[in-house]
Amino acid sequence: MEEEAVIVGAGICGLATAVALKRVGIRAVVLERASELRTTGAAILLWSNAWLALNALGVTDKLNLLYAPIERGFFTDVKTKSTQQVVYASKERDGPRAVHRKILLQVLADELPLDTIRFSSKLTSVESIVKDGHRISVLRLHDGAIIKAKRAAIIPLNDKEVYWFLVLQTTPEDKDIGNDPESIQRAVMENWAKDFPLSYLDIVQQSDLSTVSFASLMFRHMGNSLDPKGKLRPGDVGCALGKYVGERRWRTAWIIVGSYLSGWVQQDGSGWWMKFLRDLFYKTIQTRVINLVHYDCGRLPNRMGTSL
Ligand SMILES: Cc1cc2nc3c(=O)[nH]c(=O)nc-3n(C[C@H](O)[C@H](O)[C@H](O)COP(=O)(O)OP(=O)(O)OC[C@H]3O[C@@H](n4cnc5c(N)ncnc54)[C@H](O)[C@@H]3O)c2cc1C
Repeated sequence: MEEEAVIVGAGICGLATAVALKRVGIRAVVLERASELRTTGAAILLWSNAWLALNALGVTDKLNLLYAPIERGFFTDVKTKSTQQVVYASKERDGPRAVHRKILLQVLADELPLDTIRFSSKLTSVESIVKDGHRISVLRLHDGAIIKAKRAAIIPLNDKEVYWFLVLQTTPEDKDIGNDPESIQRAVMENWAKDFPLSYLDIVQQSDLSTVSFASLMFRHMGNSLDPKGKLRPGDVGCALGKYVGERRWRTAWIIVGSYLSGWVQQDGSGWWMKFLRDLFYKTIQTRVINLVHYDCGRLPNRMGTSL
């Protein structure tokens, strides 16, 4: 069996990825080792950025009917009965929502075509092989089934145009095709994608040849991303990612420290010094941690490609 994209695990990440791929026209298969949607824990607290991501996936309408944002929380010391109030919501951001894990998974799964999730399918190995001169991934399941994956997509641009692409590991001979659109079109139809659905091949055949090109995906050194004339190069993506990782590393570190402190002051002791630390935590540190969680990650594209 050959598939465009294979996702392992029908958890929140796997299902959200499958929905995101579907939104951009890529069909994915989700392999799940359990016999049904499986959850560890009853509910999950989703903060504003998680909601933003679910909104971009187009599933918040259903969840909004069931779950309202939590504006504030109250932390009570059961021994001293003293209570601290923490405000989660701000003018710009809603507070978090507590959502049933099972319902979240179901809402995401409902967005996918019926045969997308293959239950009782445990992945045991992933192997890379060369078939017809091209490298493809071979996934083996515990029951002996084999799935082969190559990646291609058709994405609507507007009412009249679609964007198609094909990603594959090339051989040295493939590179001889150069940038002649007719040769590329022929290679796609007669070789690389010859076993693809007719609807895909039909679109390739009707392509405006002036728009067809062949390019290698390559890693560029980050320092090489801006040429002396100031023109942007593909390496800027690497540079942006580097900045993102650098920024996120510290934000994540503070969130982890804040979460640890939050658990510690809530669980540990009711002596005067712990009460003092707890008061200090809720009055000052907790608000800073919440601000980190509310980090403005900018606008996300919605399913139609415009910004939310
Ligand atoms: C107690 C607890 C409380 C939490 N509370 C929060 C919270 O309030 N807010 C929050 O944002 N996060 C919370 N988290 C974290 C959050 O639950 C996880 O980050 C999230 O569930 C991860 O989702 P996932 O899809 O990556 O993995 P999972 O939900 O673990 O899904 C992985 C799936 O892959 C399947 N699988 C695994 N191996 C294979 C295989 N070989 N073949 C096929 N299928 C396979 C599994 O069966 C499973 O269904 C909490 C975590 C815990 C443990």
